[in-house]
Amino acid sequence: MSATKTGTPYDAAVIGAGPAGVAAADLLSSRGIRTVLIGERFGGPPGKPDSRRDWLAPVLRGTALAKAAKAHLAGVPSLTVRLGSRVSAIRREQRGFAVETDGGGDSEDSGDAYRTRVVLIATGTSPKRLDIPGEQPLSDRGVSYCIVCDAPYFAGKRVVVICDEADGGEETVEGLAELRKHARTVTLITDPGTVRAIEGDRRVKAVRVRKGGKGRQGGKDVELKTDGVFVQLGRSPNTGPFRDLLKLDKAGHVPADPGSGATKVPGVFAAGDVTGGPYPSARVAFGEGTRAALALAEYLSRDSERKRG
Ligand SMILES: Cc1cc2nc3c(=O)[nH]c(=O)nc-3n(C[C@H](O)[C@H](O)[C@H](O)COP(=O)(O)OP(=O)(O)OC[C@H]3O[C@@H](n4cnc5c(N)ncnc54)[C@H](O)[C@@H]3O)c2cc1C
Repeated sequence: MSATKTGTPYDAAVIGAGPAGVAAADLLSSRGIRTVLIGERFGGPPGKPDSRRDWLAPVLRGTALAKAAKAHLAGVPSLTVRLGSRVSAIRREQRGFAVETDGGGDSEDSGDAYRTRVVLIATGTSPKRLDIPGEQPLSDRGVSYCIVCDAPYFAGKRVVVICDEADGGEETVEGLAELRKHARTVTLITDPGTVRAIEGDRRVKAVRVRKGGKGRQGGKDVELKTDGVFVQLGRSPNTGPFRDLLKLDKAGHVPADPGSGATKVPGVFAAGDVTGGPYPSARVAFGEGTRAALALAEYLSRDSERKRG
């Protein structure tokens, strides 16, 4: 039953069901704190999670981790899990926050607002896109954002890697070494601004690239035949829905105190990759989610004491 329908607020809303969000929801609910976990899916970024090689424990790799989290959190009395839901905005209210979702999802009350005393943002990051014609429709049809996940699918094929030297460099270097083991030819494009379109019908067939001129201006388009396109432009934080609530840093991360995850807005905490902290990884996100949940529990109990007078 939804918070809105009962009129009873949750104590905590955790947004994002990756490692940081799952760790936080587990800790909060184990302490009897009424928590709603809202996320698109269990287990972090989409793609091929089993490609992660140094996951926390060998028995808890990728999809197994997602399954284990789902089973572990099922039926915990103080926890409501809402998957398939995207948070679209958080509004401040007199007694806390209203967390709004965009509808869809597996809950009877999705599209509703979840009223809560505190919020933990754990929405991670997503690969940056080129935003050119053909990119979106051919996603997963030859367009990939993760070389280490998808390189084996291009065995004996021609591939193009589009990267930005300033962003995503390390991942690209590692990825190129992997691709060389599988692909027939690898063409590297280091100026993403010259790529005009990705072409293909059911699968990628070519990229259209501007030759001569500057960036996308001037020059002439040439077609480069290929079976796959890897877009390697780095990652950006999933913070669009929080722009009105918080001041984000230049790159769009949620600035948070490294010791507690507290943000400048009382009652709003953040953990994991979304904060832009050092060593972004599942291991760190688990720890940060746990620590932020502990800080958040303390905040709630101080707040209750203050209200009792
Ligand atoms: C190819 C690849 C390989 C990796 N390999 C490793 C490895 O070997 N070891 C390791 O430790 N780390 C690895 N990582 C890094 C690790 O996956 C991340 O650091 C970790 O998942 C971050 O956890 P998080 O909880 O902060 O965010 P995420 O795991 O990104 O989870 C955030 C979740 O929030 C959801 N979300 C986003 N916006 C919204 C919204 N508006 N409403 C609701 N939900 C939302 C997302 O769908 C996602 O499920 C790898 C990453 C990639 C891409």
